[in-house]
Amino acid sequence: MNDGSAPPAVLSMSGIQRTYGKGTHALTVLNDAAMDIRRGELVALVAPSGAGKSTLLHLAGLLERPDAGSLTIGGVECGALNDDNRTRMRRIDIGFVYQFHHLLPELDARENIALPQVVAGQSKAAANVRANDLLDHLGIAARATHRPSELSGGEQQRVAIARAVANQPKLLLADEPTGNLDPSTSDLVFDALTDLVRATGLAALIATHNHELAARMDRIVTIEDNKIVAVS
Ligand code: ADP
Repeated sequence: MNDGSAPPAVLSMSGIQRTYGKGTHALTVLNDAAMDIRRGELVALVAPSGAGKSTLLHLAGLLERPDAGSLTIGGVECGALNDDNRTRMRRIDIGFVYQFHHLLPELDARENIALPQVVAGQSKAAANVRANDLLDHLGIAARATHRPSELSGGEQQRVAIARAVANQPKLLLADEPTGNLDPSTSDLVFDALTDLVRATGLAALIATHNHELAARMDRIVTIEDNKIVAVS
C-alpha cells in the first residue's frame, strides 16, 4: 500500500487471521485484518473491551503468532522468524509501554532505563549516557537516582516510556499508557510520549479509551467485524 511517495511502513499487517480455540469453541478475533504504520506516525487504537485490542498488540509485539497473514516490522517478515529471532526483534526493534509501569523496584530510574540496553549488548557507560539523555528529554533528570516507589505515577510512567525507547526501537506499542493517571498528569505523559515519537521517527500504536488523547494522534483505528478500520 505504498503510493511511491510515502515512506515505507514500519509495521505492515495484511490478511491477518487470529482465532482462539477450536471447533464449536472457536472465537475469531481478527479476520483478513490489515494495517500499516509509518515512521513518525502515532496511531490510536480505540475499541470496546473484548474487540481484540490486546490480541492486535500481542501480534504486533510478536508475543503471539497469527494463524494466517503477513506481518512485517522494518520490512522483515516476522512469520518466517524462529522464536530466538522473534525474541531478539522484540528486544531491539519493539518498545512496550503498559498501563502499569512494571519498573524493577530495586533499581533506580536510570538503572531501569539502562538495563534493557545492557541486556541488548550495550556497555554500562553508554547505556547510562542514553538513560541520562532520555531522563533529560522527559523532564525528569532530577529523579535519576530515585527508585520507582519514590516517584509519582506520572514520573514512573515517563521512566517506563524512556525504558521502552532506550534501545531505539522502530515500533512503540502501548496499552493504555496513561490509563492509571489523573487527567492533568495523563496530558503531561502523553505530551512526553508524542514528543518522543515525533523526535525519533518511531512508529507508534497506542491503545487507549481516552478519546481526547486519541484525537491528538495522527489517526484513529478501531476493530470492527474482525477488521482494523479507520475512524474519521
Ligand atoms: P480487548 O483487549 O479489546 O479487550 P482481547 O484481545 O483481550 O480484547 O480479546 C478479544 C477476544 O478474544 C475476547 O472475547 C477474549 O475473551 C478472547 N481471548 C483473548 N485471549 C484469548 C485466549 N488466550 N484464549 C481464548 N480467548 C481469548
